[in-house]
Amino acid sequence: MSALVVRQVHKLYQSRFEALKGVDLTVAEGDFFALLGPNGAGKSTLIGIVTSLVNKTSGSVTVFGHDLDREPEAVRATLGVVPQEFNFNLFLPIIEVIINQAGYFGISRRVARQRAEFYLRKLELWDRRHTETRRLSGGLKRRLMIARALVHRPQLLILDEPTAGVDIEIRRSMWHYLCELNQEGTTIILTTHYLDEAESLCRNIAIIDQGQIIRQSTMRALLDQLHTETFVLNLRHPLALAPDIPGLRLRLSDPSTLEVEVDRQRNINGLFASLAVRGIEVMSMRNKQNRLEQLFLNLVEKRQDAEQ
Ligand code: ADP
Ligand code: MG
Repeated sequence: MSALVVRQVHKLYQSRFEALKGVDLTVAEGDFFALLGPNGAGKSTLIGIVTSLVNKTSGSVTVFGHDLDREPEAVRATLGVVPQEFNFNLFLPIIEVIINQAGYFGISRRVARQRAEFYLRKLELWDRRHTETRRLSGGLKRRLMIARALVHRPQLLILDEPTAGVDIEIRRSMWHYLCELNQEGTTIILTTHYLDEAESLCRNIAIIDQGQIIRQSTMRALLDQLHTETFVLNLRHPLALAPDIPGLRLRLSDPSTLEVEVDRQRNINGLFASLAVRGIEVMSMRNKQNRLEQLFLNLVEKRQDAEQ
């Protein structure tokens, strides 16, 4: 069974602005799925529709076989949501936020306490359970929202830009926990414009732009479309000219920075050997651009070309 099926969903804001233009999307049970797109693409609108915060103009949404219009309560029970904006009472202690949420789902206070402890420990918030939420940093607030979204054990967890404002260390531990949840069987959908994270976490991906899904495929198939990768090498000694090495495209972006475009099939040892022979010492190296980011730009550009 699919975790989520979206068919021909349209959304008009104020009966004129078309934020979604016939969105079709299918997410399989057990998937770790990324909905990727630039700001204003319609990600939050789509998530809002699935989670009943936004009314769609037309189309249908089915969550684990339950139609959103006919069985909204069944859909709600299946879903855990981490919205883009913080939306809890800022003056409540952390633990109360979790217990209140359990109450909305008819979970007894006794069970709610156990689950609150379980999830707050998982998200490393247990020691601060009596702290008022307004005293938490952005990253801790985000983790609290994850704990809150899980308290009724949803089959599908949806996170809208979960890494916004989260520092790298907390982000890592968050990703680690999301992977664990997914391995235990929870289907996860996240929206992001941190493309590298979609790349490392998600198995399947849809790219949305201006209210339309412009691509849906496996992450692997998408990445295979990109054949070259550009590396940026930091040189020990400045150069006047980029070296000429047969079969490689090299350019200096400044005298100490060499950019090399490499075929993804090719081994880069040869590159270093060729540079060493020419007495060029490399101090450090990084990817110029995340591959997914490159791919996204290519897709959007192609579409714009087609429109013109
Ligand atoms: P994303 O989450 O991908 O950044 P959104 O779904 O928030 O995009 O927004 C999609 C488009 O819809 C944007 O152009 C945004 O300005 C517009 N929009 C979002 N919410 C509203 C609203 N309540 N009223 C009018 N326009 C809106
Ligand atoms: Mg958004």
